Amino acid sequence: MALSELNDRLRFVLVRTSHSGNIGSAARAMRTMGFDQLTLVAPHRFPDPEATALAAGADDVLGKASIQDDLVAGLTGTTFALGLSARRRGVNIPELDPREGVAQALAAARRGEQVALVFGNERTGLENDELSRCHAMIRIPSVDDFSSLNLSQAVQVVAYELRSALLADEAKDVARVPEAVLDPDEVPADAEQLERFFTHLGQTLDDIEFHKGRSPVTIMLKLRKLFLRARPELRELRILHGILADAQRMAEIAHKKD
Ligand code: SAH
Repeated sequence: MALSELNDRLRFVLVRTSHSGNIGSAARAMRTMGFDQLTLVAPHRFPDPEATALAAGADDVLGKASIQDDLVAGLTGTTFALGLSARRRGVNIPELDPREGVAQALAAARRGEQVALVFGNERTGLENDELSRCHAMIRIPSVDDFSSLNLSQAVQVVAYELRSALLADEAKDVARVPEAVLDPDEVPADAEQLERFFTHLGQTLDDIEFHKGRSPVTIMLKLRKLFLRARPELRELRILHGILADAQRMAEIAHKKD
């Protein structure tokens, strides 16, 4: 499969970037490795001359960057997301090294999935609720006492690993094995469809008084992890929505009886 087709399925998502210069440097880092799908989630300032200056000619990447208000919108259409983080947060998702992460990202892209590589804010990194929307995290193995790379340099490492893996595959691929592309009915639900399901699940747990005064935060994170691991298809989510709707209906009947 042509590199350009895979590029269309790999999205670099920068979340709440503070310094527009980093957006430009990230665009340059991507462009040097053959990638140009950039999504900016709530950037502090964009467009900005600082971004353009540091893009050093990768203006095409900046020019067609998609700008979104929140991460769920930034992940729309993607079915597999990897969050880049120097530190393990309160969210217990699988941790991969860059090579393994890139291998999984490429495997999903080759199946026809849209993949997101998600990078956090310069100071605070990815928050728990942002990482909890990712299927796994990639940690670049830096030293413990100085672990945080500059944002655009982290983008460069990932873009480089992606390109190296693609070139290695291409070299091996002389006899061209046909690509296995997913049946549209079998594509896992995307980030937005999953978000709608989690909202419904959260409401239902309230309606059936599941929490009994405890905070719903931890249980919702655990449930998110479970469903992200299962990667349900849309038609499976429909069944789950149906079950939730019935549970809500029964809870309403029970309330009326009280
Ligand atoms: N102080 C923040 C670091 C932010 S650096 C923190 O502790 O999370 C900005 C972004 O660059 C991070 O959110 C992450 O996406 C990426 N990054 C920096 N260093 C990294 C590393 N060692 N491994 C993976 N991602 C890293």
